Amino acid sequence: MIASRIPDIQGRTRLPEWLLLLGSCLTVIAIVSIVTFLLIREHANARQEATRSATTIAQLIDADVLRTVELYDLTLLGLIAASQRDDLKQMSPQVRHLVLFDRSTTARFKGDILLLDKHGEVLADSSLIQPKPGNFADRDYFLAHLSSRDSGMFISRPFKARCDCEDHDQWRISFSRRITSPTGEFLGVAVASMRLAYFDELFNSLNIGNDSTLNIINNDGLLLAQKPYLLSDSIGKSFANRPNVERILREGSGSFSSVSSIDQQNRLYTFSRVGNLPLTVIVALSGREVFATWQRTALVVSGATGVLCIGLLWLAWLLSRELRLRHNAERELAQLAATDALTGTANRRMLDQVLRHEWFRAQRSGKPLSVLMIDADHFKAFNDRHGHACGDEALRAVAKVISSHVRRPADLVARYGGEEFSVILAETDSAGAQQIAEHIRAGVERLPSVAGADSPITVSIGISTWTTASDMSLERLLFAADKALYQAKEGGRNRVVAD
Ligand code: GH3
Ligand code: MG
Ligand code: MG
Repeated sequence: MIASRIPDIQGRTRLPEWLLLLGSCLTVIAIVSIVTFLLIREHANARQEATRSATTIAQLIDADVLRTVELYDLTLLGLIAASQRDDLKQMSPQVRHLVLFDRSTTARFKGDILLLDKHGEVLADSSLIQPKPGNFADRDYFLAHLSSRDSGMFISRPFKARCDCEDHDQWRISFSRRITSPTGEFLGVAVASMRLAYFDELFNSLNIGNDSTLNIINNDGLLLAQKPYLLSDSIGKSFANRPNVERILREGSGSFSSVSSIDQQNRLYTFSRVGNLPLTVIVALSGREVFATWQRTALVVSGATGVLCIGLLWLAWLLSRELRLRHNAERELAQLAATDALTGTANRRMLDQVLRHEWFRAQRSGKPLSVLMIDADHFKAFNDRHGHACGDEALRAVAKVISSHVRRPADLVARYGGEEFSVILAETDSAGAQQIAEHIRAGVERLPSVAGADSPITVSIGISTWTTASDMSLERLLFAADKALYQAKEGGRNRVVAD
């Protein structure tokens, strides 16, 4: 009853604790969010940086390959132009060989350059004045030129040479052009081969890290070159059905991250078409290498942030625990300061405070407010007869009876002083107050003899009630209750008198 009458202290108790914990949690969330945002941004920067350098590498390869293919094309165009000279047949084989291959460039890794007739038979060979007989009508480039009127350059699938030459086991590709008569008739094919070792040398001049790879594929998804090799014997094999290669062939150029279906490593693929050629350069950087620095930074930063946040929460918890202990102590002190030590009811200080509070509340609400003044009858004589200790016991018993009849939270039982008690009955009219007072009086009268005392204890009760109709002050209300008590005493004691 008294505890509920200290709302200001109770309300304040938990609020700072919660504010402290909430503030710390919000700070931790803010720190974690900022760190996460920065790490995500750094991750994106690392990826952007890697893509930029991969694009530069791809452009370098593009430029070199384009230049090389252009040299081969010039050779082929020169060969075709020379082969269409009418006076060629009258020349000696040596001169004819010189004329035909006059514009042959010395491109790196160049293999044989052949002139084939419309049946695929060798008409001229750059390496021999008297060409070795041979038929290449089954080669993909020959079939392609035969069936298409397109006079553009054709790049073949990778193949190994048929000759018994020392480098016959080396992979090659060929560049070829159709020889067409002025009327559009197919006259044959000019073809120049190139060893794929060219790409190996080109790739070796570029440093891309240990786990990353450089690749060249043609439009059919056939692998022409790779550094380092992920699989043995993979040159000339088709990777067109691998999801990453499928996407690369579909998009032409760009970049994306994905897991390699060969070694299951996460890779950042940057790829681009080589000019208009049916070749694609793929720079596949290892995700581990690209994000290694970021991962180290992320580890240190998240570790430090974690320690900081845990420290912050721990400090907040310690502080809130201290606050709780302090508030509990304050609350206990406040309760002690509001309690009468002998009877456990509210003391005079609390009575004054609550009375003022209820008084103003009644003024605002217009609801009645009743006050009981209760005084033990002939208590001096009781004390004299049974001693003070017994008197104290009797006062405790009376307080218990009064409290048992005053149950509403807004009501208050207080020891006014000596053997007098006061009861505040909020929102209670005179009739209700008289009823409660009568219960108290009868209850005290019924008390069994206290601590062996043979004389019964009785109380006299004076009641006064404030209503909107009665225009009286708080002092007047108390005075009226006192007056009613006096009348009860005068009237013979052990009775209730209402003002
Ligand atoms: P009346 O019926 O007119 O009220 O007579 P009374 O004797 O009760 O009144 P009086 O004011 O003459 O005496 C009050 C007595 O109450 C005096 C004192 O011995 C006793 N008393 C006051 N406070 C305490 C207390 O804390 N303990 C005990 N045991 N007695 C107290
Ligand atoms: Mg008295
Ligand atoms: Mg008395």
